[in-house]
Amino acid sequence: MERVYNFSAGPSVLPEPVLKKAQEELLCYGTSGMSVMEMSHRSKDFEAIIQSCEQLLRELMGIPDNYKVLFLQGGAWTQFSMVPMNLFQNSKKADYVLTGSWAEKAAKEAKKYGTVRIVASSKDKNYSYIPELDKSQFDPDADYFYITTNNTIYGTRYTTLPDTGSVPLVADMSSNILSEVIDVSKFGLIFAGAQKNLGPAGVTVVIIREDLIGHAMDFTPTMLDYQTHAKENSLFNTPPTFAIYICKLVLEHLKELGGIPAIEKQNIEKASILYNYLDESALFKGTAAKKDRSLMNVTFVCPTEELNAKFVKEATAHGLVNLKGHRSVGGMRASIYNAMPVEGVKKLVEFMKQFEMENK
Ligand code: PMP
Repeated sequence: MERVYNFSAGPSVLPEPVLKKAQEELLCYGTSGMSVMEMSHRSKDFEAIIQSCEQLLRELMGIPDNYKVLFLQGGAWTQFSMVPMNLFQNSKKADYVLTGSWAEKAAKEAKKYGTVRIVASSKDKNYSYIPELDKSQFDPDADYFYITTNNTIYGTRYTTLPDTGSVPLVADMSSNILSEVIDVSKFGLIFAGAQKNLGPAGVTVVIIREDLIGHAMDFTPTMLDYQTHAKENSLFNTPPTFAIYICKLVLEHLKELGGIPAIEKQNIEKASILYNYLDESALFKGTAAKKDRSLMNVTFVCPTEELNAKFVKEATAHGLVNLKGHRSVGGMRASIYNAMPVEGVKKLVEFMKQFEMENK
């Protein structure tokens, strides 16, 4: 069977050259005589893999030296608790911006450990936009300020970051890490589940400013204390070795393509192809506010449920799969992460045009 164009929100498409390389190296990695899956995490070969993975991420994202890079498990979800357990260091207060259900879940989790204040929310319009943020409303005493930079379900993203002054900015970047150039020094902590832009499911990357490490609340389990992992370079216990290896391949591939500026350019091009068509279509309608549209997750609807279902079904038959939207938005969602080729987006738009003609 041929490979399809996979618009899944995550786990999602990986670059084909990465999958091929992994296939080539599957039985025997380098001179090790074994698969990466069979290697001790304390072996020289694996140490070289994890170090190179970290180095590449540092280079591509321009991560300053006073930040640690951690490769953890438990998904982005676990970060919803690790962030408050580790960052509630003084006032035990935090500001959260609600731009979707992932932010809601994170805020709910944080409430177990301290005082959470909702600075702004776009729930009134089903999270279809990013709310205006008024700096005078931010709590200068907060231990941190929390945002979700890209809202996977609703297809929105921050185009400018809030200026939180000396309050550390914490970002769930699960669905847009490595998709556009960012200034890491603006953040206290960034986390991302790997399964969209970084690699396969199973590893979660945390980029944390060093001064925020080492102040976890007394009851914090050893495994949920950033210090545990920072001290041991993510080798405190057995890390998700194969997932880290695939991330390394993805990062090598990204570097070959010209790094984040090059991929950002391509992402803007891909998103424009889809949004430009959505804006002129009489059948399909984008659901996110134009000013806040995501480059990674494009959400849209047809006028009726029947047409939505028909579209998803026929698209699947054309090798354009996983286009059904999340149930809280309905309609369709095309996730066009870094690894989705421009060709895939062009094919999707071609098919949408044909569908529109046939269903006027
Ligand atoms: N945050 C965002 C923005 C997400 O899109 C997701 C889901 N992919 C999560 C958090 C939860 O991630 P995980 O399944 O890795 O816990």
